[in-house]
Amino acid sequence: MTIWNDLDEAERAFQDACRTFASEVIAPWAPICDAENRFPREVHEAAYERGLMNVSLPAELGGGGRSFRCLAAGGEELAAVCAPTAFSMGFNHGALRPVLHAGTSEQRQRFVGDVLAARGYSSLCLTEPDSSGSNLFAVETTARKTESGWSLSGTKCMVGNGTEASVFLTLAQTSVGGRPQGVSFFAVPRGEGVEVGENTDKLGFRCVTTPTVVYREVALDEGCLIGGIGEAEQILLETLDFIRFGGASVILGIVLGGMREVIPWVEQRRVVPDDPLVSKSSVQQELGKIYAELQASRLLMMRAADCLDRGEPCSTETATAKYLASELAVRATNSFVQLHGWRGIDGEHGAAKRLRDARATTIYEGTSQIQLMNLFRTLRRNFHADGRI
Ligand SMILES: Cc1cc2nc3c(=O)[nH]c(=O)nc-3n(C[C@H](O)[C@H](O)[C@H](O)COP(=O)(O)OP(=O)(O)OC[C@H]3O[C@@H](n4cnc5c(N)ncnc54)[C@H](O)[C@@H]3O)c2cc1C
Repeated sequence: MTIWNDLDEAERAFQDACRTFASEVIAPWAPICDAENRFPREVHEAAYERGLMNVSLPAELGGGGRSFRCLAAGGEELAAVCAPTAFSMGFNHGALRPVLHAGTSEQRQRFVGDVLAARGYSSLCLTEPDSSGSNLFAVETTARKTESGWSLSGTKCMVGNGTEASVFLTLAQTSVGGRPQGVSFFAVPRGEGVEVGENTDKLGFRCVTTPTVVYREVALDEGCLIGGIGEAEQILLETLDFIRFGGASVILGIVLGGMREVIPWVEQRRVVPDDPLVSKSSVQQELGKIYAELQASRLLMMRAADCLDRGEPCSTETATAKYLASELAVRATNSFVQLHGWRGIDGEHGAAKRLRDARATTIYEGTSQIQLMNLFRTLRRNFHADGRI
């Protein structure tokens, strides 16, 4: 029995379709896009044809309308072959979350419906080169009130899927009549005054393009403000809780893919005196430990999926799942490299790419240290509330 025995027929069929797609389409393109450091366009085109894009976005806005359980189960299978490709495929779910959470019906149609109808992409622009990283509210990008709307200026970096995006969900300091009004969210259409750079040259997650985006006095109409003026905090926290759920499923895919590669290897490789590597208790202990942690993280991820499907909060579940999954991915991929000997560090081998990709996962969507700080805050709050921690 695994946790996947709990999937219903439709969820299992979707998971199977993702597994097939990953081996037929992602596998041949992943090394090419990784080496060329570019967006996996060919994979995306095929995914649209097979109904594997925007799967859990609302059907009335052009999404697939599937459950978040499906997204998690399928996402892990896609990521088992190439995590960054899976991440790029699921990106719209997180980047459009501020509009879905806090937008008016007009904004939902304009920034979600119209983007999906055009098979377009969106980006979430929080991080800045100097001030804002973990400290999200230290943004220096400004939105100044004008007669017709807003004038936006500033620079964002590490903008996921940014080379492809037609709308950038952007966090900015707002000012009205020269007076600061706090941090707000804006949907910024790609257009005049928006300069999008090239993909950056990263260690891992290379085919999730992360250009710098510069805004030069971009004129925005009133309808681009998402939520109220200075009301970004609640929208941002909800968005981060949500994206960590998607992040966890992709990250666990790295571990799943590594497991599928390492088991045949340790079964076939013979070592001193002339035993299969799998017969060594140190190997069994190591892989058993990784499997235990994989199962525990998955349980948390699927609990978060269930909460999301019911519209319930799940910040503790997503923070814990993302933290455990990413720390596990780094440790597990390191072990997989070691078990493969010299092959593990060969650039052509899957183990080397998994290690590179895993290394990015403790940084994005809030670093491990930030997840732990948040969890500690929850721990104290619960302790002081009624001691049920
Ligand atoms: C592959 C990838 C994709 C990304 N995509 C996006 C995207 O789409 N949109 C976007 O806006 N950003 C994106 N990012 C950026 C990411 O969100 C930031 O890198 C992350 O929030 C951390 O910020 P920072 O890198 O500036 O690190 P910093 O905040 O400078 O932190 C540096 C170190 O200090 C630690 N630290 C920070 N604060 C504390 C504290 N209070 N106590 C103890 N330790 C602390 C951190 O854990 C870290 O180890 C992406 C990053 C990666 C790697």
